[in-house]
Amino acid sequence: MLSLGDEFDRLDAEDPLQRFRVFFDLPEGVVYLDGNSLGALPKAALERACRTVGAEWGQTLISSWNDHGWIDLPLTTGARIAPLVGAKPSEVVVADSVSINLFKVVSAALEARPDRKVIVTDPGNFPTDLYILEGLAASRGQDVSVRYAPAAEIEAALGPEVAAVCLSHVDYRSARIADMAAITRAAHDAGALAVWDLSHSLGAIEVDLNGAGADFAVGCGYKYLNGGPGAPAMLFVAERHQADARQPLSGWMGHAAPFEFVVGYSPAPGIRRFLTGTPPIVSLSILEESVKIIAQAPMRELREKSQRLTSMLIALIEDHCAEYGFRLVSPRDKNLRGSHVLFDHPDGYAIVQALKRRGVIGDFRAPEGMRFGVAPLYNTFGDIREAVCHLLQVMENREYDLDDLRVRASVT
Ligand SMILES: *Cc1c(COP(=O)(O)O)cnc(C)c1O
Repeated sequence: MLSLGDEFDRLDAEDPLQRFRVFFDLPEGVVYLDGNSLGALPKAALERACRTVGAEWGQTLISSWNDHGWIDLPLTTGARIAPLVGAKPSEVVVADSVSINLFKVVSAALEARPDRKVIVTDPGNFPTDLYILEGLAASRGQDVSVRYAPAAEIEAALGPEVAAVCLSHVDYRSARIADMAAITRAAHDAGALAVWDLSHSLGAIEVDLNGAGADFAVGCGYKYLNGGPGAPAMLFVAERHQADARQPLSGWMGHAAPFEFVVGYSPAPGIRRFLTGTPPIVSLSILEESVKIIAQAPMRELREKSQRLTSMLIALIEDHCAEYGFRLVSPRDKNLRGSHVLFDHPDGYAIVQALKRRGVIGDFRAPEGMRFGVAPLYNTFGDIREAVCHLLQVMENREYDLDDLRVRASVT
């Protein structure tokens, strides 16, 4: 067994973020490197869920909408997320899923550029983003189309027909960070709007939406924000667009006066008009609790630790597993890399499964990507050491070479 020295324990002892790990319930013996897909459970989430369900729903029933602030929770939670993304509290709301929010904000961007009919995106963008854009275009008939251009070549794809550029800030496969400020500027120079998906950045790396001049954004609640499975998602609309913004899922929660029960839709002032139906209060209350934790951690410290952990993971795998043919897909430059690392390997799926049997949880992204996410709030330097020791054993013993490890589960 590879033995990696005490330096990892020393790094953990010196880590100013180490105090956050106790806020999370992680199973004994598990090295969790998949917080970029489903964040770990904050202990406070359990308590909050009990309170919301037992004390609020159970005891004050429907009065809870007023008495416990349920009706404003999408806005109050949005306001807590705002500083994590360089937004004003009044520019962020929490609702629905990333997919649905993307539909709403890209529709709003199209409405804001009525004589333009093209949405530009990267073909390597997260599939649901591509599917939503396709669906949105189809719902507009022949009118609107999607144009694919790799993130590095976006500028060449811009023109007077482009209404919006829609990209991920951090690529879900490679972890490459897009230059949000430069691409937003190029979009604006061409008369288009910029829509950003922050799903793989939110809570792990610095985001400055207003500094970059972004128009709209969406982001995931259950990844680095630790809001739990299916947590609702964030949605950002720059203040300058809010008064005129129109989105098509015009439900009553986005109405100016939902409890007047009038015929005819008139949008609420401000960001509230991006709400649609009744918010999922249990999920939302858990998300609020987990955002409170992350809000106590200085984002610069989170980012620095994340960079050290991913750099260390890359260096150890390349040093100790050189003969096994892992190919680094993520940028080597830590300043261009988000908070996860992706290595390609032809046996990637089976290797990830063999690691899971050893308690090291990463995930697999087709066609052959082994993905390891680090969540700087709760992952440790010791986790990186453990993960690499186990990987080396999986490779030395060919533990991945079993037929049952090659059968793909429905969630990878
Ligand atoms: C995780 C993720 C999503 C998830 O979308 P849901 O609608 O919440 O399922 C969307 N886009 C990106 C870039 C993601 O990483």
